[in-house]
Amino acid sequence: MQIRAAVLEEFGKPLVVQDVDLAGPKAGEVLVRLVACGVCHTDMYSSSGVDPSGYAPCVLGHEGAGVVEAVGEDVTSVAIGDHVVTLFSPECGQCVNCRSGKTNICIAIREQQGLGYLPDGTARLSRDGDELRHFMGCSTFAEATVVSEFSLAKVNPDASLEAACLFACGLSTGLGAAMYRAQVTPGSTVVVFGLGMVGLGAIVGARLQGAERIIGVDLSQDRLDIAMAHGATEGFVADEHTVERILDETGGHGADFTFEATGNVNVMRQAVEAARMGWGVATMTGVAGRGETLDIVPRLLITGRTVLGASFGGVRGRTQVPQLVDRYLAGDIDVDAFISHRISLDDVNQGFDLMHHQDGIRSVIQFS
Ligand SMILES: [Zn+2]
Ligand SMILES: [Zn+2]
Repeated sequence: MQIRAAVLEEFGKPLVVQDVDLAGPKAGEVLVRLVACGVCHTDMYSSSGVDPSGYAPCVLGHEGAGVVEAVGEDVTSVAIGDHVVTLFSPECGQCVNCRSGKTNICIAIREQQGLGYLPDGTARLSRDGDELRHFMGCSTFAEATVVSEFSLAKVNPDASLEAACLFACGLSTGLGAAMYRAQVTPGSTVVVFGLGMVGLGAIVGARLQGAERIIGVDLSQDRLDIAMAHGATEGFVADEHTVERILDETGGHGADFTFEATGNVNVMRQAVEAARMGWGVATMTGVAGRGETLDIVPRLLITGRTVLGASFGGVRGRTQVPQLVDRYLAGDIDVDAFISHRISLDDVNQGFDLMHHQDGIRSVIQFS
């Protein structure tokens, strides 16, 4: 079939929206008709060429939600008509990692996904007979896509797909970091550094876990105001005295839980330094630049602080994304407030511009 898709032709250049060919699903694969797709930093990062593992040409996009249109042989977990969210972090349920119950990092399709292929090592996308590679196992900047069934979470059809798509990446990463990875405890004090989509998710997650004080830290007063609307109890604009200020405001101790959601290694260090002696847990969610390292004074660890990291917030996608969507439906998470711009696929580059200027929280592409 022919579909419209946003193709990364050349690093550092705008995406080119055009007609491409999409082959039907093979065994274990699913054809999804996209309804909505968020525009994420990872898409922009990959298109910039800074990401050393990036490749072109490919169809970008990974925060998709849509409806199953066809299934290949042996697909059992979803059926035609199901509402689904795409998962760049798949869950097969059978590999050694999935069976361990200790991690959400599934290794079943990881290698081929990293190369831009579906699990059998081939692509369903092409143009004039030439292969186009997939992106993060998703390629959702397109009217339709074919993915592994391990890369889809089946969600409650009562949820709007426009809201559901935010659970495909940033929002779930923040929620999961607080709820599943760090497991914030009731009555605790939490600090979140960086209040983009991931940090706001951590604010909401901390609130859902029953934290008593939730302190937001960001460079933008606007984002602090948004965080207050979603569960932050206080906040301040970051400066060179950020750590001292947090220590001051927590009786000199530091916070029970800190979260870093910037990708900046200096902020990561602040998150460790602002965690409480004895039991403070600092969780890193941002992706640092290649070759950068996190500098920690060992005494901070000896005196009882724990440093955690999480990919996709530790969320096991097929199991837990549907649960998070149900919490949205229950009114616990005001997802709609995070959608700041609605754009068409043709305007995808404008979505990058908005993100570059930190205008709004999330742009969502609507497919009609
Ligand atoms: Zn697995
Ligand atoms: Zn993302």
